[in-house]
Amino acid sequence: MEMTEQILTKIRESVRRAKEGAFYRGHFAGIEPEDIRSLADFERLPFTEKEDLRRAYPMGLRAVDEDEIVRIHSSSGTTGTPVIIPYTSKDVHDWAVMFKRCYETAGAGKSDRIHITPGYGLWTAGIGFQAGAELLGAMAIPMGPGNTDKQISMMIDMKSTVLCATSSYALLLAEKITQRGVLDRICLRRGIIGSERWGEKMRRRIASELGVRLYDIYGLTEIYGPGIGISCDRECGMHMWTDYFHYEIIDPRSGLPVPLGEVGEIVITTLEKEGAPLVRYRTHDLTRDLPGDCPCGRPYPRIDSLIGRSDDMVKVKGTMIYPSRADELLAQVDGVSSEYQIMIDHLNGKDIVTLFFETATPDEGGRGNLERVVKDSFKEKIGLTITAKAVGMGDLPRSEKKSTRIFDNRY
Ligand SMILES: [Zn+2]
Repeated sequence: MEMTEQILTKIRESVRRAKEGAFYRGHFAGIEPEDIRSLADFERLPFTEKEDLRRAYPMGLRAVDEDEIVRIHSSSGTTGTPVIIPYTSKDVHDWAVMFKRCYETAGAGKSDRIHITPGYGLWTAGIGFQAGAELLGAMAIPMGPGNTDKQISMMIDMKSTVLCATSSYALLLAEKITQRGVLDRICLRRGIIGSERWGEKMRRRIASELGVRLYDIYGLTEIYGPGIGISCDRECGMHMWTDYFHYEIIDPRSGLPVPLGEVGEIVITTLEKEGAPLVRYRTHDLTRDLPGDCPCGRPYPRIDSLIGRSDDMVKVKGTMIYPSRADELLAQVDGVSSEYQIMIDHLNGKDIVTLFFETATPDEGGRGNLERVVKDSFKEKIGLTITAKAVGMGDLPRSEKKSTRIFDNRY
């Protein structure tokens, strides 16, 4: 992204604020905000990694007086120490303003009834969807995750018009609604789907089974939460609210910016955040910048839908596999569902890749044919010999959180 004098000024201000906190005082020791005079100076600043934020536990990121903090959130601590992000009331408000803008971009307004299935709690998801809905003046239905039967009956009785969910949970709901034959009692018109990487085939299934238009929303707990960007009606990438943050797309290995339009990792610097400003935060999300203006006329730049996580990319026999490539490949095979899992094992000195996919085809012969097609296509398009195994529809686990596609069991 280009860097205007206005953004540089905001970055200097953000660095100054960040250094009020214990974490950046150490991390940026010897770096003064006035030293950042150009894009090149900015690109020399050290990155901030999630591991750094863990070391700041519990409140080392706090960059304002304790009295100014009105809320904390925490990103998932499945591995080790969680990350705590403190918010001031301005931070909470700014997040709601961005989220309201997301709803508006998705065509939602005051008369909508917004069915929120992401979780509430330390996690930023549910409450972000809720605050944005309330600021919009719509009616929030704060379901949280789970209890699919109740979700569907509330959806019918409350006449929910907007569904907020992860892609895997939206798919589960769509399947259950179809199974029960209650689609004609569902009033949903739009789905706002969390920025988990999801294939075109899964998107088409959810949209057609629920009869809704879908929007991809982007965000992460460390930078407010979901709602810092969303796709518009034109379905050509997600607009990013760059009046609140600056982003870069870098090569995850070299740390250098990639040429415009090439895939890399998105790195974010907050411009307005008070409680825990972050500078050059590595998200590990892979995407690319979409050049040019969106036909919708919004002035905000766009990134492509997420391609995966830089840490999900796995190398097998010198070939890179990332989930989106498998998504694309399976989308082109008739009779195969969007759900799959890839297992990588190391047996007798060799790496073995097994891809499990779902199909509605019941007979052995049909399944055998599909397995051959998937195997050949993998060899042809990705350059890797795999074992393909067909399983029945619904046999692979669905999750309410983000689903993992590739399991590397080699280490
Ligand atoms: Zn647009």
